[in-house]
Amino acid sequence: MATRTIIETSPGRYKDPETNKRTSKQDGDKVVSKQEWEAAQPAASQERKADKEKTEREQVELSTGKLTTDPTTTITCAKRGCSTKRVIKKQDAFQVKFCLEHQKEHRNKLRRERRQKKASAKK
Ligand SMILES: [Zn+2]
Repeated sequence: MATRTIIETSPGRYKDPETNKRTSKQDGDKVVSKQEWEAAQPAASQERKADKEKTEREQVELSTGKLTTDPTTTITCAKRGCSTKRVIKKQDAFQVKFCLEHQKEHRNKLRRERRQKKASAKK
């Protein structure tokens, strides 16, 4: 049987780092303390630290006035002649092309077109 390494998270409690689940100590298990385990995993603990920093990141105000802790990016309005910059969430970058004003205009235009299409379909 292969030797497992399990972490003693608190006295008498063990965790299997492979599955990240609580486990019980079996014969032949190598038990390490949480500190020992983390010291042996420099990359992993650094990742965790980065994750922690991520959650502690400051809130950023989007152009819509909403606050977010998600990564943001700045786009320039795609409307010709308009160079307004807009702060948006990175995850929305694929669908946001215009500044707030022109986004509204664009949406209205789409709505109008849809309505016209519907009207002409009735004929
Ligand atoms: Zn614009």
